[in-house]
Amino acid sequence: MPALPPLNPPIRTLLGPGPSDIHPRVLAAMARPTVGHLDPYYLQVMDKVQGGLRELFRTTNRMTFAVSGTGSAGMEATVVNLIEPGDAMIVGVNGVFGGRMTDVAERAGAKVTKIERPWGEVFTPEEVQKAVDAVKPKVVGIVMAETSTGAYQPIEEIAKIVHDAGALLLVDAVTSLGGVPVEVDKWGIDAIYSGTQKCLSCPPGLAPVSFNQRAMDVILGRKTKVQSWYLDVTMLANYWGSDRVYHHTAPINMSYGLYEAVSIILEEGLDACFARHALNHRALKAGLAAIGIKYAAQEGYQLPMLNAVHVPAGVDEAKVRSDLLNRFGIEIGAGLGAFKGKVWRIGLMGYGARPANVYLVLSALEQLLAEQGCKFEAGASVAAASEVYRG
Ligand SMILES: *Cc1c(COP(=O)(O)O)cnc(C)c1O
Repeated sequence: MPALPPLNPPIRTLLGPGPSDIHPRVLAAMARPTVGHLDPYYLQVMDKVQGGLRELFRTTNRMTFAVSGTGSAGMEATVVNLIEPGDAMIVGVNGVFGGRMTDVAERAGAKVTKIERPWGEVFTPEEVQKAVDAVKPKVVGIVMAETSTGAYQPIEEIAKIVHDAGALLLVDAVTSLGGVPVEVDKWGIDAIYSGTQKCLSCPPGLAPVSFNQRAMDVILGRKTKVQSWYLDVTMLANYWGSDRVYHHTAPINMSYGLYEAVSIILEEGLDACFARHALNHRALKAGLAAIGIKYAAQEGYQLPMLNAVHVPAGVDEAKVRSDLLNRFGIEIGAGLGAFKGKVWRIGLMGYGARPANVYLVLSALEQLLAEQGCKFEAGASVAAASEVYRG
C-alpha cells in the first residue's frame, strides 16, 4: 500500500458548538517535546494545570484535575463516582446534554427522576424545590450552558435548594467554563466537569473536573467500588495528588495544550474574558436582529458563547451551512433533536469570540440569505454589530 496522502486539513473558522477555534499558542504548545508522564517536568506541568483550573473554577478544591477524555468523560467521571446502584438522582433535561446525563446516570445504576423543560427554556428554583422535596435525591445534576439550545441556566439558587435538602449538586460546565462566571466555591457546587474544546480554545481531549470535600466524603464512604476503573477518582487522586502513583499514561501533549489555554485566560483575566464574550454576543445578536433572525433560547437566559437562532422561513438551512463551509470556510452548527432543521448554532467561544468573527459570519450569512431571497437592507447586520462595538 502506498503511503497515505499528505495530511492537509483545511483552515476553517470554527463558529459552531465545538470544537471551537484553537488559539495558535495552544497548538504551538502541543508540538513541544513529549516527556514521560512521571518526569519531574511533567509533574510540575500537572501542578500548574491544577492550580490554573482552580482559578478558572474559582475553587480551592484539592480534587481539581483534568480527566483524560473529552467533556463526556468528565460527565461520566463525576456521575460514576457519586452514584451507587439504586441511588436517587434528579436530572434537569431541557436539551441534549441533560438527556445524556440521564443515560450515563442510569447506566451507573441511578434511579433517575427527570425534570423537563421545553428546549430553549431554563429551570426555575421552584421547580427544582418541588422535585427535590418529592424525590429526596442523593445527587441533582444540571447543565449550566445547554449547548443544544443556547439556554443559560442560573445555578446559585438551585445550589442552595439542593444543599438544604442534603443532596449534592453536579453541574455540567462543558460550555460555560471560560465563557461565563462559574463560581464553584461561592455557589457551593459539589462536583463539576468541563471540556477543553469549547471556551478554553484547546482541542478536544481533556475534561477539567472538580470535587469538593462533601463530594469526596460521599465517594470515600461508598459501599461499592466505582463501576469504572479508569475514572475512579480515588485512584486518580493518587496520581494527581502528592503520591504520584502510576494510574494511566496521561496525554502529555494535551496537558501542554491545556496548560497554555489556561495560562492565556489567566493573562487576559477571567472578568475581562467574560466581558469579551458578552460584548461579541451582543454585537452578533444586534447584527442578526437587523436581518430578521431571532434567538431560540428564552429571552434573558441566552448564552453569550452559543447563539442558537431560528432559521428564517423559507430558507434551506442545510444549504446555508454547506455554503458557509465550502465558500467561506466557516463552520456553524445545525440544530439537534427538537431543533433539527429549525435552528442554527453559532458559537463565539474562547479565542473565537472576537469582532473579526462576528463581522465575518454576519457578512457571509447576509450574502447567502440574500441569494435565497431573504429581504433586508444590504449591510444592515454589519452596521448593527458595528454600532454595538462603538458603544
Ligand atoms: C460538548 C458538550 C458535552 C460533551 O463534550 P464532548 O467533548 O463532546 O465529549 C457535554 N455537555 C455539554 C453542555 C456540551 O456542550
